[in-house]
Amino acid sequence: MAEQDNTNTNNGTPERTDFIRQIVIDDNKTGKWDNRVHTRFPPEPNGYLHIGHAKSICLNFGIAAEFGGKCNLRFDDTNPSKEEQEYVDSIVYDVKWLGWDWQDRLFFASGYFEQMYQWALDLIRKGAAYVCDLNGDQVREHRGTLTQPGKESPYRNRSVQENLDLFERMRKGEFPDGSRTLRAKIDMAHPNLNMRDPIMYRIMHTSHHRTGDAWCIYPTYDWSHGLEDSIEGITHSICTLEFENHRPLYDWFLDQLGIYHPQQIEFARLNLTYTVMSKRKLLQLVKDNFVNGWDDPRMPTISGMRRRGFSPSGVRSFAKVIGVNKTNSTVDVALLEHCIREDLNKSSPRVMAVLKPLKVVITNYPDDQVEWMDAVNNPEDPSAGTRKVPFSKVLYIEQDDFMENPPSKFFRLSPGKEVRLRYAYFIKCEKAVKDAAGNIVELHCTYDPATRGGDSPDGRKVKATLHWVADSNALDAEIRLYSHLFTKENPEDTPEGEHFTTNLNPDSLQVLTGCKVEPHVKETRALDRWQFERMGYFCTDSDSRNGKLVFNRTLTLKDTWAKIQQKG
Ligand code: ATP
Ligand code: MG
Repeated sequence: MAEQDNTNTNNGTPERTDFIRQIVIDDNKTGKWDNRVHTRFPPEPNGYLHIGHAKSICLNFGIAAEFGGKCNLRFDDTNPSKEEQEYVDSIVYDVKWLGWDWQDRLFFASGYFEQMYQWALDLIRKGAAYVCDLNGDQVREHRGTLTQPGKESPYRNRSVQENLDLFERMRKGEFPDGSRTLRAKIDMAHPNLNMRDPIMYRIMHTSHHRTGDAWCIYPTYDWSHGLEDSIEGITHSICTLEFENHRPLYDWFLDQLGIYHPQQIEFARLNLTYTVMSKRKLLQLVKDNFVNGWDDPRMPTISGMRRRGFSPSGVRSFAKVIGVNKTNSTVDVALLEHCIREDLNKSSPRVMAVLKPLKVVITNYPDDQVEWMDAVNNPEDPSAGTRKVPFSKVLYIEQDDFMENPPSKFFRLSPGKEVRLRYAYFIKCEKAVKDAAGNIVELHCTYDPATRGGDSPDGRKVKATLHWVADSNALDAEIRLYSHLFTKENPEDTPEGEHFTTNLNPDSLQVLTGCKVEPHVKETRALDRWQFERMGYFCTDSDSRNGKLVFNRTLTLKDTWAKIQQKG
């Protein structure tokens, strides 16, 4: 992959440290794992990955790369009711796009179902698991509360023989959904509710996207996750904070079985302002057509960010900047945008495009003449070279760059004023031409041939340099502008009884047509990234085909994060 640049095996020294990397360093000192470092990223294929997952991916793959270790991509596909192959494919694509490589270590929890089943039989034989006939509501009622101990299930003391028999028949499909479960026999009075005889298997007569109809009992997360880690020889099993009080259970199962025992470590999940991150909510936005699919450029999904024009290196740099810690907090989305801008500024070729065109006629320029001016492709990167931009008698500037009656601080074009057209000439506005309704439809300007290239030989100064596109060879384009999907920093902040969708921003997508772009981008392909001078970072959209050009504005040039930093 062209964009991959992260194979930074720094001889076992991380570039930076945090509490998780410190644990790894300490373990390597004591030889706890024989100096192995083996992590995994374990998504459930029940949705598309989002920026929060990107944090976890960069953490797991990043640690493996820095310490010369390994990181597996493992699908935690234990609940077939919500999982689909489409999600598996998108996740594989997204992790690769972010620049990470699991080599030959792509695994599926469903590949371990038989082993997990055998281990469940072991627990039953030890008297550490039993088949329970309580239904879901009854299990909840028996569970107790934080202040009240639970009640033991009436099925808790079944004989090993009966449990083995019932569990085998559960597997064979003899019982309907929800009629029985296999539960761990721990302690119904345990102060940690997760330890009150948690469910290990539920009956679900549902086809699985990989195992088909081979199984009708499926393992729970709590039962299966540590087993998956154990089978793969994971050293550091990194997960988000909500699993902290599941850790005793993770440890209990592995200890009961007496098998290889990785260490679970929890970190704070990423939350972002103006963003929802729960897969359930993202799914709802897609299913109810609040957005145009998982890869809608307004979505915080990796596919949405890609289509919007975010670069993998920009996303990785964001993950690096936010680091990891132990307390939940919300990161300003402006910081993500800042990281993306910094990255795009270095890499994006510059071109000129006019989003809201105002026609300009250069009255003293020869009618059929076209001159090809030299333009710099990227001032941040001299190796990007130059290109030729056509200049002709008719051209376009932004409507916003002209005012008929400007206030004193307006330095751009107005009647009688002179400005520079980037890479071309000084022009002076002679007249604004209006239609019958009084709208300005075109400007008549004159140019000074002595200013070719944009410099005046007599040292005359102008206060503004405008971007422009010549009518000759101009390309027509549709340009989509985006702003936050939600109007509130915290989209969950709703009036009593109202849904987060009430906070959707009705103006998050604005579509401009009839935009003008210089001919240089003619052969552009989906996902090409550009900086349109003065207008922001843009990305060619996959809707560009059959000669139609569509661009997404990735971000404007205005970096609100840099501003916040300056003030602070
Ligand atoms: P759900 O929202 O459906 O519970 P999830 O977002 O936890 O699911 P998983 O597929 O289970 O999704 O996540 C895979 C990994 O990504 C897990 O290790 C999880 O902890 C991590 N992860 C998920 N969301 C975030 C987040 N916002 N920040 C950091 N890591 C996250
Ligand atoms: Mg999860």
